Amino acid sequence: MFGKKNKTPLPPKSKEEMPFAKMGLSLKEWRNNHVNKHKWRTIRWSVLIGMNLLFIISITLDLALLEGSLSGSRLLGFYLMDPYNTFQVLVISFVTGHWKYLTMNFVIGFFTIFLFYFFAGGRSYCSWICPYHFLAEWGEKLHDYLVKKKKIKEHSFNIYLRFVFWGGFLVLALFTKNIVFEDLNPIGILSRAMIYGPGLILLWILALLVFEIVYSKRFWCRYVCPVGATWSLVGKGTPLAIRFDLDKCAHCLDCQQVCLVPHELWFVKKGTATHDVHHAGSDCTRCGLCVDVCPGNALSYTIKGWEKIL
Ligand code: SF4
Ligand code: SF4
Repeated sequence: MFGKKNKTPLPPKSKEEMPFAKMGLSLKEWRNNHVNKHKWRTIRWSVLIGMNLLFIISITLDLALLEGSLSGSRLLGFYLMDPYNTFQVLVISFVTGHWKYLTMNFVIGFFTIFLFYFFAGGRSYCSWICPYHFLAEWGEKLHDYLVKKKKIKEHSFNIYLRFVFWGGFLVLALFTKNIVFEDLNPIGILSRAMIYGPGLILLWILALLVFEIVYSKRFWCRYVCPVGATWSLVGKGTPLAIRFDLDKCAHCLDCQQVCLVPHELWFVKKGTATHDVHHAGSDCTRCGLCVDVCPGNALSYTIKGWEKIL
């Protein structure tokens, strides 16, 4: 994530070496030949909806399956704590000297979820679990449509702005002795609204979505969310990744068009790849949109390390 700056790029492929030329097709025919099946998006949305439904089913049927909300929950009795929430509680405990919230269940919950997402891909939480991501994906479609029709302009910011918010909300917790971020966190707000019923606070989610649609695509997820920033840091060493094979790529850039974090696919531009195989970096949410859209199947899910064994 922090500048995977390359050594010398490999020489660009000649036209004859392009995957479409090998099939006797033009680039346009090759792209049109690809049927985008939305396979991974369908699987991912099913998991996301299923996990969020599990909270509702649990409380409605009074089953102790998944209790609480996405900010802190219990899965079959095991505590799960959102890491960024944990950091805020730690800061507040430190400044007040009251460590009563730092129970053994709290610590176990933090490490359980930390380890799970370390192996499951860090920011995979964003695209596979977060209900705001789901809404924002629809907002993104509307935003792209308006940009295409030249009704609005795209406004982008520095991707590292997230870390300013990340530190800023911790500082706020320090001075206010409150988990201030939780009052603004669309993940917790949406999760609680689904489980315990809606409230006026949903107007904040609406305002956020409208802002993203008319002003800056995926503003919250790209530039603000400290939860996503935390998972991005966790995902730096994670084995589950998106693999890129240079020989299957025709540099059409369709993958970057659909990606929430196109900087993580920097190597798909012609003449930039430094190796025959690359992996998307830790900002990648493992959403699979690029895998679905790529006409040459140059992108795929992989477990790093296994590639050498298999
Ligand atoms: S990896 Fe990206 S740029 Fe390369 S062929 Fe696939 S969609 Fe096009
Ligand atoms: S690189 Fe692919 S899997 Fe990762 S966020 Fe972008 S589109 Fe999703």
